[in-house]
Amino acid sequence: MAALANGGAISYYHRMSNNIRDMGICLRVVDFSETSQVVTLFTRENGLQPAIAKGSKRPKKSGAGISGPLDLLTIGEMMFIPKPTGDLAILTSWDVQNYRPALRHDLPGLNRALLCAEITLNILQPHDPHPELFDDLDATLDMLAGPQCRRAFLAYCLAALEHAGFSPAFSRCHVCGKPLLPDQPAQFFPHASTATCGQCDRPGERVRLPGNILLALSRLPRPSEMKNMEARAGNAQALNTAQVLLLDQIELATDRKLKTRSLVEWS
Ligand SMILES: [Zn+2]
Repeated sequence: MAALANGGAISYYHRMSNNIRDMGICLRVVDFSETSQVVTLFTRENGLQPAIAKGSKRPKKSGAGISGPLDLLTIGEMMFIPKPTGDLAILTSWDVQNYRPALRHDLPGLNRALLCAEITLNILQPHDPHPELFDDLDATLDMLAGPQCRRAFLAYCLAALEHAGFSPAFSRCHVCGKPLLPDQPAQFFPHASTATCGQCDRPGERVRLPGNILLALSRLPRPSEMKNMEARAGNAQALNTAQVLLLDQIELATDRKLKTRSLVEWS
């Protein structure tokens, strides 16, 4: 009897020691069976974690565990047992902190949020922590249902590019080194992630656009900073041009088309 109790204590300790506590944003949900889901969570300290949420669709029992079916874009406190790369982690607890109700009633915001989720999944490798980008995504999802929607989305695209190691250089001419001028034409070279002023040139495919758009992008605050600043709507046409530029850049950097991109092209 004593041996059994001891063995139980060891396995309990073992189970607890393997459990990792983190915050997570739900980026992908697939029903796995009548009662379970396979999810991909962007965790703050442990990066992307593909995981199985066993029994998440069963009626909630009281106490610890999974608080209910996981929904896209929600953020929660979680515990999980990690597995070697390629295997699904086991989600042992999920407690929703923000269901983002405003976003669920705002179609342009919701569409951009879905695209943010896809961008994050495409641009990061599993198990690679990016806590700053996690904070940026959380801030962006909060802003997408408000007046900052379009600028916040662009700021998140820039943050994602930066974290993937493809930070574009927008503020200065790559050839002469001078700052771009807002009232002059400029060129952006997607494959080199650099810009030139109207007077300089370099070989390669280029996008011609007004200097003020590249300058505005270079001055855009990070989403986690923007969240605490006064809201600014921005010029619709300039925002459209910048959005096309950044989404093209993300597709180029990841060598993948964004499936949800069409959701935002006309909203
Ligand atoms: Zn120049």
